[in-house]
Amino acid sequence: MLDFTPVGLVIPDWQIFIKHGFISPIKIQIDHKIGMTGNMEKRVYNFSPGPAMLPLSVLEESQKNVVSIPGLGQSMLEISHRSKTFTEVIEQAEANLRTLLKIPDGYRVLFLQGGAQLQFAMIPMTFLRSGKSADYILSGTWSKKASKEAKTLGNVNVVWNGESSNYDHVPSQDELKLDSNAAYVYHTSNETIQGVQFQTEPEVGDVPLVCDASSDLLCRPLSVEKYGILYACAQKNIGPAGVTLVIIRDDLVKQTPSDLPSLLNYSVLAEGKSLVNTPPVFSIYVMKLVTDWLLNDIGGLDRMLEINQKKADLLYDVIDASNGFYDAHAKQGSRSLMNVAFRLPNEQLQDGFLTEAAKQDLVALKGHRSVGGCRASIYNAMPVEGVQKLAKFMYQFASVNAQ
Ligand code: PMP
Repeated sequence: MLDFTPVGLVIPDWQIFIKHGFISPIKIQIDHKIGMTGNMEKRVYNFSPGPAMLPLSVLEESQKNVVSIPGLGQSMLEISHRSKTFTEVIEQAEANLRTLLKIPDGYRVLFLQGGAQLQFAMIPMTFLRSGKSADYILSGTWSKKASKEAKTLGNVNVVWNGESSNYDHVPSQDELKLDSNAAYVYHTSNETIQGVQFQTEPEVGDVPLVCDASSDLLCRPLSVEKYGILYACAQKNIGPAGVTLVIIRDDLVKQTPSDLPSLLNYSVLAEGKSLVNTPPVFSIYVMKLVTDWLLNDIGGLDRMLEINQKKADLLYDVIDASNGFYDAHAKQGSRSLMNVAFRLPNEQLQDGFLTEAAKQDLVALKGHRSVGGCRASIYNAMPVEGVQKLAKFMYQFASVNAQ
């Protein structure tokens, strides 16, 4: 265990970093910059929960096509959504997603608008018409919000609610008393604000499982066939804001009531190949680049998971070794790989922490206003170096300030 006795002069104990096998004491002292070189502005490590960092190579590649796509003389921001160029982009984005997530035939991949929150409404609007109720698992702010929206449209049965323990864990399977007649079971795989994440899918029998995977889709492999609907806004792990990915089973698409307006109608949207109205062309283009990066540079989701696990372990290990100086919000077994939420002993130390971190180009670490504290969102595109730098900073800050 690390010793956090205040020493005045900080002599870092590097064991924790060396333990993780991807860092040497010498390397960590190199002030790694992730900015573009030349006359471009430097970039910082942005720990925002979303919009979040994108891979630098993706930004550089998309930049090339902002003014003029070679051979076409038009910007990617100007081309028609019916053009051959965009048709290839959206088809490739879908093909990449199908490869990465091993999406079986029998599922549609939709690129929609309205953010993740429009799905909070579209799902009950589509599936609660029959008068059936839906089972909702409330593991944090976002699932609570989704259930509230659903209640305006139909019958909601809250099957588990973590509010009394301040949403610091997800339920175990035996805590879930599910209705085998429900229209669907709804959960949020990763609660961005509280930093709690389901380690595996809840077992729901034959009832369709619906998942808001906005803040963890593509962070690890998963079994799409376990889901009826899997959806995610893009601005965390998949691309820029403006597009929402919806992966939905064919038989559920077919259940869409025909009198729903076209843009709220899964069947119309699937039939129209997500081009019923003008889609967010540029966001889908960047999504294609991000999925290219995941496939070609990272090497797929198994490898992405390994990297994400290492990044998360580094921060949780510093927290756990701090003798309570840092207090993780999530309980062991529910800790998120993507959002590490923690507190410092008091507001004053916390403010100092945020100010000092920002001076070291570690930004957007303030927790959500509803829960306070700090939060490091370490999505796929956050470089390992950024997490190493944060871990080192956390260690040093605690060494100096722990009582
Ligand atoms: N669900 C989760 C888990 C989220 O983290 C967020 C956004 N932070 C949303 C839903 C809402 O997404 P949007 O702003 O795209 O509606």
